[in-house]
Amino acid sequence: RRIIQTEVQQEDEPVEKSLRPQTLDEYIGQEKAKNNLRVYIQAAKQRGDVLDHVLFYGPPGLGKTTLAGIIANEMGTHMKVTSGPAIEKPGEMAAILNNLQEGDVLFVDEIHRLNRQVEEVLYPAMEDYAIDIMIGKGASARSIRLELPKFTLVGATTRAGLLTAPLRDRFGVIEHMEFYTTEELTEIVEHSARVLDVEIDRDGAVEMARRSRGTPRLSNRLLRRVRDFAMVQYDGRITREVARTALDLLQVDKFGLDQTDRRILLTIIEKFQGGPVGLDTLAAAIGDDSGTIEDVYEPYLIKNGFINRTHSGRVATELAYRHLGLQM
Ligand code: ADP
Repeated sequence: RRIIQTEVQQEDEPVEKSLRPQTLDEYIGQEKAKNNLRVYIQAAKQRGDVLDHVLFYGPPGLGKTTLAGIIANEMGTHMKVTSGPAIEKPGEMAAILNNLQEGDVLFVDEIHRLNRQVEEVLYPAMEDYAIDIMIGKGASARSIRLELPKFTLVGATTRAGLLTAPLRDRFGVIEHMEFYTTEELTEIVEHSARVLDVEIDRDGAVEMARRSRGTPRLSNRLLRRVRDFAMVQYDGRITREVARTALDLLQVDKFGLDQTDRRILLTIIEKFQGGPVGLDTLAAAIGDDSGTIEDVYEPYLIKNGFINRTHSGRVATELAYRHLGLQM
């Protein structure tokens, strides 16, 4: 069984990897995280030391894995990729750590999903670059310490608060990933279009960017679908009109809200008279898990003013009603 992948996990299509920027300079957006990392990377290199452990938190598809790969690139080392749910036993974590080379980046996606015993292997590994191994049983059991090469752990999670305090405290760098602006996504769409050899004009790129829910993974995915549409039904070139028609067919609305986003808003409005409604009640009504709603869907809806979070629950805003064509 493979418990670790040495390459970046592939997504939709094999071409995905080439859409990923390889250096900090190529990476668009996340200015705050990028500027901080630039300083820390340079300082670590000047000291001839490894980079401190880094935690990225924020909704999926915003570039956490990509940044981890860039860190390895910039440090001139390799990245190993694994994820919280993939590691079941402490011994598996110990094996992964023991196989690292000096300076490697170990990327752990969904790090909040590591079980407690596995997580405990990480504490001395992160702090002292060592693991404690128990040998023997009962009264004669003793633990021996195994030195590890110095490495950088890069963890990714949707919300920093999902981590236990002892794990969170061991990260020297904690960065929040923000949704991308339309301008940033326009640049990303144009760049991806060049890589995929797709013709797109500025207005077409802006339209795609607006409707990408602030998320580069989504803009890349939509670009492929719209490209197909442009090839088959038009002359191959993505203009605003082509983007609009295709995205309408894909049921991506003009704010980039998807069906789940709209279902959340509609449920608050129709089943709960616009709210306030508690998160768990809302999740039950939608048939989704409350953590997913809170970490994946809600941040975008709140940031763009479709939902307010009050002490008594979630409330649909006037914008939500207007967007859905409903009377308040
Ligand atoms: P996460 O790990 O946060 O879920 P990823 O790093 O897998 O997100 O990014 C999803 C996709 O979006 C990647 O395949 C990459 O091509 C693209 N992407 C993410 N951030 C950027 C960026 N800043 N510039 C260009 N493309 C990006």
